[in-house]
Amino acid sequence: MGYRTKNLGVWSVNMKICPQCTSDSHERTSSTGLRVVGCIVLLFIPYGFFICWVPFVLPHKFLCNVCGYHGKEEELLNLDWRESEELKGQHRELHEKLQPVKDMWVQDTKQNSYKVIHGKGQYLLLKVLENNIVPYRIVGYDKDTDPKRIMIKDNLVENFNVTSSISKIIDKSNVQVNDFGKTILLDEEVTKFFSCNVEEFSQWLNEQAKVALLIDIEVLPNTERTIIEGKNGYSNKSTLFTNENEEEASDSKKYNDFHV
Ligand SMILES: [Zn+2]
Repeated sequence: MGYRTKNLGVWSVNMKICPQCTSDSHERTSSTGLRVVGCIVLLFIPYGFFICWVPFVLPHKFLCNVCGYHGKEEELLNLDWRESEELKGQHRELHEKLQPVKDMWVQDTKQNSYKVIHGKGQYLLLKVLENNIVPYRIVGYDKDTDPKRIMIKDNLVENFNVTSSISKIIDKSNVQVNDFGKTILLDEEVTKFFSCNVEEFSQWLNEQAKVALLIDIEVLPNTERTIIEGKNGYSNKSTLFTNENEEEASDSKKYNDFHV
C-alpha cells in the first residue's frame, strides 16, 4: 500500500518521491509489527527494558513501484506543494511531447525497432530483441535534434514487462506476450515477432510503412533525476544504444542536492 505524508495545512500537501525515478508510488517494506515483536522480546531479556525502544528507531525502508529502487525512507525526496506542482508540470510536458509518437514504431540508425507506448501511467519504449521485447522507461524526448532523440532508463520493475520472461532469453519458444503486452502490441505484430528473426521483423515494419521516425536512443544513468533536472538540459554522461563504446556512465550528482 502506498503512503504519502499529507500535511493538512491549507495549501501544503507534501509529496514524497523516489530519488531515482521521481515516482510517488512506493511502499514501506519494513514492518512496524516486527518492531513491536522485537520490542516485546527485548523486554524478556535481562536489562532489555533499557533497550526495548531500539527497534522503533531503526530506519524504515521503501520499495519504489516503478523503478524498483529499494532504499531508506530518509532518501525519499520531500516535495512541497510548489515543487510537486512543478514536477507534475514537467511530467505533463513530457507526455504532451510524446503524444504524437504514441503507439508508433521508431528505429535507430542500426535498424533496431522500438515501439513508443503509454501504459500503467508510464511512457515506455519497447525494444525488439532477437528473443524478447523489453520495456524501458522514457524520461525525455528531444524533438529539435536531428535525428530526434528519446532518453530512456532501464530501471523498471517486472510489472511493466510485456512478455512472460525477463531480458536474457535463450529461446523464443519460452516467451509469451502477457496480458499487459496484449493491450499495447497488435496481434499481427506479436505473430510476426514470433515468426521471424529481429532483422526480418524490422524489415517487415518498414515494408508495412509502420516506422514513423528515425531516432537516437540515449540511455541515461539510473541515478540521474532526469525529469527534475530536465530544464537545465540532459547530462552528457549518458550512453547511446548506437554508440560502439558503451561506457557505463556514473553520475556524480547526489540525490540530496535537490533542495540546495
Ligand atoms: Zn523509483
